[in-house]
Amino acid sequence: MVTVEIILPLAIADTYTYSVPDAMACPEAGMRVLVPLGKKTITGLVYRLNPENSAATVNSSYKIRDIIEVLDSSPIVLPSQLELWRWIAEYYLCTLGEVMTAALPARLLDNDYTARTEVYISLHPRFRDVEELQGVFNSLRRAPKQKKLLEYYLELSDAFAGPPHPIEQRILVEHSGESTAVLRTLIEKQILVASHEVVSRIPSYDSAIEPAHPLMPQQLRAVGEIEAAFANQKVCLLHGVTSSGKTEVYIHLIEQMLSEGKQVLYLVPEIALTTQLTDRLKKVFGNRLGVYHSRFSDMERVEIYKDLLSTGAAKVILSARSGVFLPFSRLGLVIVDEEHDGSYKQQDPAPRYHARSVALMIAKSAQAHVLLGTATPSIETYYNAQTGKYSLVEMSERYAGLQLPRISIIDLQRQYHRREMYEHFADPLVDKIREQLSAGKQIIIFQNRRGYTPYISCRKCGYVPKCCNCDVSLTYHKHTRSLVCHYCGYTIAAPNDCPNCHGAWRDNGIGTEKIEDEVQRLFPEARIARMDLDTTRNKNSHQRIINAFAQHEVDILIGTQMVTKGLHFSEVSLVAVLNADSMMQSPDFRSYEQSYQLLEQVAGRAGRSGSQGEVVVQTFHPDHALFGYLQNHDYAGLYREQLRERKMFRFPPFYRLIVITLKHRDNVRLDNAARELHGLLNTAFGTRCSAVIVPPISRVQNMYIKTIRLRIEANASFAQAKRIVMQSIRYVQTLANCKGTIIQPDVDPM
Ligand code: ADP
Ligand code: ZN
Repeated sequence: MVTVEIILPLAIADTYTYSVPDAMACPEAGMRVLVPLGKKTITGLVYRLNPENSAATVNSSYKIRDIIEVLDSSPIVLPSQLELWRWIAEYYLCTLGEVMTAALPARLLDNDYTARTEVYISLHPRFRDVEELQGVFNSLRRAPKQKKLLEYYLELSDAFAGPPHPIEQRILVEHSGESTAVLRTLIEKQILVASHEVVSRIPSYDSAIEPAHPLMPQQLRAVGEIEAAFANQKVCLLHGVTSSGKTEVYIHLIEQMLSEGKQVLYLVPEIALTTQLTDRLKKVFGNRLGVYHSRFSDMERVEIYKDLLSTGAAKVILSARSGVFLPFSRLGLVIVDEEHDGSYKQQDPAPRYHARSVALMIAKSAQAHVLLGTATPSIETYYNAQTGKYSLVEMSERYAGLQLPRISIIDLQRQYHRREMYEHFADPLVDKIREQLSAGKQIIIFQNRRGYTPYISCRKCGYVPKCCNCDVSLTYHKHTRSLVCHYCGYTIAAPNDCPNCHGAWRDNGIGTEKIEDEVQRLFPEARIARMDLDTTRNKNSHQRIINAFAQHEVDILIGTQMVTKGLHFSEVSLVAVLNADSMMQSPDFRSYEQSYQLLEQVAGRAGRSGSQGEVVVQTFHPDHALFGYLQNHDYAGLYREQLRERKMFRFPPFYRLIVITLKHRDNVRLDNAARELHGLLNTAFGTRCSAVIVPPISRVQNMYIKTIRLRIEANASFAQAKRIVMQSIRYVQTLANCKGTIIQPDVDPM
């Protein structure tokens, strides 16, 4: 009996054994198959064939069931991809099925992809003969409409230059001005023939291709250094200040790769936020650019996937993190732009992978190079560059000699004390905004909370409306007059007053909606737009806001971190950060680093052409060391300080972390599981294991949450540590008093 190991999209086991019926040709690894599972039929993927009469088959006490059908005639997943899946499953402690679910476009896996077809019209082959064709024209003397349509077809299809080619029916009818009825008659007479042709959903780029910009001296030097670095080392960090022209450096390197027939993967944190970049790349690379979207069209994803698989063409693929799963066969370079960005890490569900780490893996196995680019490297990456694991190339000047923005810090405590505030705007900030408005400049105001106010409370009894599913207060949204849970989406109409005592509400803290109100009152003449999750839910809304701002139909743009990422507006002279404190005070060990990255990136939107831009940061803690680094654009200083702290408090890059999250609807069972697991891990790992932690938000969507954190020395065996973790988790899951506890390990958490 021939048996095969099948990956199923489940989180239970890695593979499942099925047998190949005698009459069936044996499938290859990487092909999809239909298999029975319980009473259902499910699509799986062949992982490998077992040697005939292998031990696995003979010893199995289960009844091995037959494959129902093989769905592919050739593999849709390459051996190199399967190897990568195996690595991810082992490294990030999940099953192959979970990796497969993340790796393949859903419609490819479900096999419910349908090709798009259009009706094409062509000339019946009989009439390729000129005399026959002349005969047809004679016969149509009394049917001028049919004659005209036929002439039109021949003209459009270049019939006089060679054999006529098929024309899309829609285009033929539109251009000729004749009706489909006339066309139908010609088809009935068998003069023209209609056929269904498969067409691509990937929008084709038909405008003129522009050459890349000639590089400036700093960029030329960087390209030279990167190429030299790649001769010795596979990975290079390009540390270039905001607006130093990194994109053009990438473009130059990509051109080089494509001309050598290689493929390039260009990773960006979030594809929806990169319309400006997409437009730029399209102009240079035309149809050699593929954009792998995750958000809107799974059908298009399938087509990009299939295209790479079948042609192996030299292309550059622009993608968010899931691009690492594409079937590259000739990968030459992976660019990880904004490598510090947290959205490269998938949080939920498993696999909880970091696309930067996976990119390093795929490049390694393809012998390709990796370029990590950013103005604000992650501490880990910079450490690797400092210790010689990666090469380092710097660009410290802005493009065309522009200066980095000037950064002013405003002391909110002093401002409130002196009553020199208008609502949440310090007077000096108001003056600066007014100045820039009257100079015809644009302004960006950054606030990291959406909604109107993060929470409301009763002025009399202090009551705070909370989510019924989560342990968080509800955010007030004024536009919809509702209270919304930002964790689970639970929404209720906002009550007029306190349901307990009818006291009036007090607002606590500010969100983007409230800023919008205040800006409207302060600058009634200004045109204002807001960009946050609430205003960008529709497919094109994000693009519309960016376009309006780029065309200066908007003077002031208010937004959450969406406004920090990669946007280039030439008229922005002032960027304001209304309150820098909330992000800096988060207890996470990365909050300091991330605050710096965010502030430097927001600041990077200012003064991108013409005169020097300005950034105003409001804070209650103006003496915080972070602002000193920010004002001097002193990344190296921040890095040295952070590295000291990371060492002292045992964090990456000196230690590797695994955070284990336990969840249960029943708090008692959760307690049992946390205690049992902690007991095992504490015995094995000693002081490397934390106590059981109750997180600040200890219940989400009716699940109670507890966590345990492990720190493993960077030079210790991580693999062995993970084996112990998995054994311990599996053991706890067998205990009756812990039944139903969800236990999720997160390796290298962000
Ligand atoms: P970064 O990615 O480093 O923040 P960009 O690549 O966005 O910087 O470049 C900043 C601006 O300078 C962009 O508008 C870009 O078009 C322009 N620019 C950069 N390099 C060149 C060049 N060699 N020629 C013309 N324009 C350039
Ligand atoms: Zn909730």
